[in-house]
Amino acid sequence: MKASDRPATDDWRLGLDLGSTAAKAVLLDPKGVIKDYCLLPSGAAAQDTARQLAETLLSRNGVVSARRLATGYGRSLAGGKTVTEITCHARGVRYLHPDAASVLDIGGQDAKAIRLGADGGVEDFAMNDRCAAGTGCFLEVAARKFSVAIEDLSGFCGDDPAFADAGKVDPFEISSTCVVFAESELVGLAARGVPAVESLRAVHRAIARRVTLLLKQVGAVEPLYFTGGVAANQTLAKAVGNECGLVVKRADMAQFAGALGAALLA
Ligand code: ADP
Repeated sequence: MKASDRPATDDWRLGLDLGSTAAKAVLLDPKGVIKDYCLLPSGAAAQDTARQLAETLLSRNGVVSARRLATGYGRSLAGGKTVTEITCHARGVRYLHPDAASVLDIGGQDAKAIRLGADGGVEDFAMNDRCAAGTGCFLEVAARKFSVAIEDLSGFCGDDPAFADAGKVDPFEISSTCVVFAESELVGLAARGVPAVESLRAVHRAIARRVTLLLKQVGAVEPLYFTGGVAANQTLAKAVGNECGLVVKRADMAQFAGALGAALLA
């Protein structure tokens, strides 16, 4: 590509979301339109992963450089400017869904609830990064235990009949806040002869109860958008909706909402 064909480099923007499980990047063109995006597993070195993501997106779009901003768990290791995931998710979701009033983000190691103001700014937020039993990590551990691929988990569990009856006592309640103890509760259910599908549905309900506490804490209202890699799980979206009494909509580009927000703020 000739130098004259290259876009004004400063006008391109790159957002990096260096999560605990997955590193995401979004490239915006000079008009602020999403040009490309990319995901890599979070490597041991966030710095290297960030460089790899940036190189991939810039080179495959013929862009020399871009203003960049990093968010996520490993953001401080990326070098350059950073901003919190809360701000980025709020920004990203409002761009994708201008009607958004609240956001639920569930990633590999944490969960966040955000209530947005009329201007799209963060009015209130609550975060759980202490207890993995309310995050994607628990789904991964449980899925592995029953040899179900994480992508197939929702299809395997389908619609949970127990979801339909809000307020009913959970038939197979998992109450531990720690994944290690929660896993031993799963062993206990298996020992009682509870089928895998029922145990896995119980895991979804347990996570739904935890994240509902966050949603209530911030006074979440509809339209509520679900972001993060875990938003791909429809069984969980329904479980959360049943638990909190709100319709939970999967955000477009759900796993990239944070990276998109970072790019918009770059
Ligand atoms: P983080 O930013 O913390 O790395 P992400 O928002 O990128 O987290 O989401 C990663 C999580 O999403 C992981 O726990 C992973 O298991 C989960 N995940 C990814 N794809 C799917 C899918 N198709 N169905 C359910 N969960 C998924």
